[in-house]
Amino acid sequence: MTGGGKRLYAQLAIGRAERQRFSASHIFGTLERAIRLAGLDAVLFWPSGDGTMDSQIRKRIRQAGAEAHLWLPVLADAGTEPSEADQTEDAWGGAGHGASGRRAGLGAGDESFLFACPRSGARMDAARERCRREAPSYDGVFLDRVRYPSPANGFETLFTCFCPRCLEKEPDAPLWRQRVRELRKRIESASNRDVDGWETYDALLDESGLAGFRESRCRAVAGMTGELAAEVRAAGKAVGLDLFTPAIAPLVGQDYRLLAPLGDWVKPMSYCRAKGPAGMPLELACFVRGMTAWGRGLDEKTVMAFAGRSFGAPGLPGDADSLEAHGLDEAVAGREFRAAAAMAGDSTYPGFECVRHPDFDLDMSMDGVARYLRALRDAPGLVLAWNLLYAPEEFLRLAAEGRQ
Ligand SMILES: [Zn+2]
Repeated sequence: MTGGGKRLYAQLAIGRAERQRFSASHIFGTLERAIRLAGLDAVLFWPSGDGTMDSQIRKRIRQAGAEAHLWLPVLADAGTEPSEADQTEDAWGGAGHGASGRRAGLGAGDESFLFACPRSGARMDAARERCRREAPSYDGVFLDRVRYPSPANGFETLFTCFCPRCLEKEPDAPLWRQRVRELRKRIESASNRDVDGWETYDALLDESGLAGFRESRCRAVAGMTGELAAEVRAAGKAVGLDLFTPAIAPLVGQDYRLLAPLGDWVKPMSYCRAKGPAGMPLELACFVRGMTAWGRGLDEKTVMAFAGRSFGAPGLPGDADSLEAHGLDEAVAGREFRAAAAMAGDSTYPGFECVRHPDFDLDMSMDGVARYLRALRDAPGLVLAWNLLYAPEEFLRLAAEGRQ
């Protein structure tokens, strides 16, 4: 029942809330209806952990005419929390979440967003083992959380990782750590006028002698992603990558040029409305709050303008709360798609929020979905995020029409 030119994928997660909220028969029925209605090519499935239910879900996805891909979180929320020794370490010796600008309530739901270092052997062993054990039951594996922590985890976590593994691997790491500490002091004592004179965040890192640090993070993420992709390929399955949208991907150590060749397809998370991690409004708001919290003399308006210059998002509102509440225009997703496709090529399938989701205060409108579909009309594929169980049927019909 697949048709039209565009590939159409959707994400499905069955966590604690869904198991409480919905019966198995409701989940099966919603899933089958959605696949047929939208003519989905694949469902990216975050398993419930109940083996019988999960195998039923795979069976029903395939019976309804779609492929079943395993949605596999790697460095965070992978089933067991990383030990403190495995977590990323910031330049001040802090493990786990940071403090400045951190998303309110981070870690309160099913997902803790507590990140392991990409060089953690224990975490990689566990991910490899899951690929080996589970990939054969699926048609592909969709690797998520292949990155460092984001601004939602606290501004300090942008300056990871300086754990013993990373210090050993990177001879320059002690020097970078010193330079990060100096950069923090510079931000702490900066005036609004100083920040007005700063070109972009990347340029600030460069002039602070941290270009090598930024590149090292991208290499570490690409290295671990490549290892897992090879594991999935060895099982003869397709590899998909869940990536931050290009404007903010460098903040989490994701370089599309290094990562795209490792996957069969990539999904830029070009979320203009989401108030969760990876969503542009939340991440930019947390970035602004975090940097403002560091700078004793800074106001949000100045830092917001700096963030706008840095991440190619001019015309942001003057304060972080408004940005988070109102989001960005869906047209931004089109621009982000073109930037991603320029680096990742033809298999760039942007994801957008296609839900009314009670747990994320996210209530998309038909107009919003239509604006996304217009902005992304040139994309060769689309991913309906995040959870098919909360995708209204009228959104699915619209997406199916938009693929022609
Ligand atoms: Zn590390």
